[in-house]
Amino acid sequence: MEVGENTAAALEVATTFAELGLAPEILRALDDLGYRIPTPIQKQAIPLVLAGRDLMAQAQTGTGKTAAFALPLLQKMLAHANTSASPARHPVRALVLTPTRELAIQVHESVVDYNKNLPLRSTVVFGGVDMKAQEAILRGGVEILVATPGRLLDHAGSKMVQLSQVQFLVLDEADRMLDMGFLPDLKRILNLLPTKRQTLLFSATFDDSIVGLAKSFLQNPLKVEVARRNTAAELVEQVVHRVDEVAKLDALLQIIKARDISQALVFTRTKIAADKLGRRLQKHGVPTGIIHGDKAQVERLAALDGFKQGKVQLLVATDIAARGLDIVDLPCVFNFELPYAAEDYIHRIGRTGRAGASGLAISLVSPEEDRLLVAIRKFINRDLVEAPLPAIAPPRPVAVATPVAAVEQPDATQPRLGRPRREPVCALLQPPLKPAQPDQAV
Ligand code: AMP
Repeated sequence: MEVGENTAAALEVATTFAELGLAPEILRALDDLGYRIPTPIQKQAIPLVLAGRDLMAQAQTGTGKTAAFALPLLQKMLAHANTSASPARHPVRALVLTPTRELAIQVHESVVDYNKNLPLRSTVVFGGVDMKAQEAILRGGVEILVATPGRLLDHAGSKMVQLSQVQFLVLDEADRMLDMGFLPDLKRILNLLPTKRQTLLFSATFDDSIVGLAKSFLQNPLKVEVARRNTAAELVEQVVHRVDEVAKLDALLQIIKARDISQALVFTRTKIAADKLGRRLQKHGVPTGIIHGDKAQVERLAALDGFKQGKVQLLVATDIAARGLDIVDLPCVFNFELPYAAEDYIHRIGRTGRAGASGLAISLVSPEEDRLLVAIRKFINRDLVEAPLPAIAPPRPVAVATPVAAVEQPDATQPRLGRPRREPVCALLQPPLKPAQPDQAV
């Protein structure tokens, strides 16, 4: 099986839905929904689906996976969109199978949202309700059919639905379909479909049974994957400081001093913001490297080397640039700006706390970013501790009674910037400013 992570990563360059090549009717619908930028799974999957490839995608609900398959399928079906009243002009072209009625309903609602400016017809069928109403809609013709396997077979058995013109098959939450014993039903459905079709498989896990399913259902699939929920989130201490946008730089400097952080990766959303922050930090005398897509390779390597050698204290990076960074054991990550996609938050904090080591992720959140924080909390399914900014210890009096202690205690008020130091890279060994709550702090 071809594993196309490189291909997928290379294609993850588009930053807007328009750049992904979607039609204006679809872009308008996304705009109405408030989707501004594609999520990572959308960036990876949409170009591959448009290119006609079969796909094995490891992505959970919450990553934007529905749009990742629905948008390119709508785009591909545009050529067949028509307003004819004849059912024959609306054969089922895209079949989306889901394990549960709840997911079927949810997926169909999204399809309706994305499809609202197009004359393509869609419906959803699932068990546990009367078949008659579903039959009436099926008889009228639908291009997009979302279904649970059992009920689909019922309709196919009574010739209410014809699947011989299906061009696109989506298996959503395939792992759950197998867990729920749907394999025999899936095989029966497969026999009703043309062999020449494009198949997209979405699953939260990729164990042997899913790979087996992919072998019999997919042709030469590419594999794409996005962050799993709760893996990094469980290992990393996560702190949120509420700070106005204009006060973020001072807050960052204050935290570094108060927590005695000698090295950290600092995330911004855009290259422009990375450049600006990097320059401002340098002006404040902080040895700072900047890494983003517009930097020449030599500049990036120099920044990275400086960081690895301890000469660079802060490395400011954008999400995509940071993905390829080979830095192990990074104890501290700052979100100077929260990412637009909640999933990128997991990628970012996954840069710290690796291999079971404790890690620290500090987010500076302005009121304008409230919405993003809500999405992140929902995505990681945990609360995030909000804390006041840590205070910098006041300078000690010159004449102290215990000179020995004064010598042994590092003076937090003295600038330590530029002093290369490898151990400890981040002062996590000091008692945390606020005791970590097992339920909340991670
Ligand atoms: P899903 O993983 O498909 O269940 O999507 C999770 C939620 O994210 C849904 O409420 C979608 O409407 C929303 N969503 C999907 N893609 C985007 C996007 N690019 N921008 C904003 N919200 C999105």
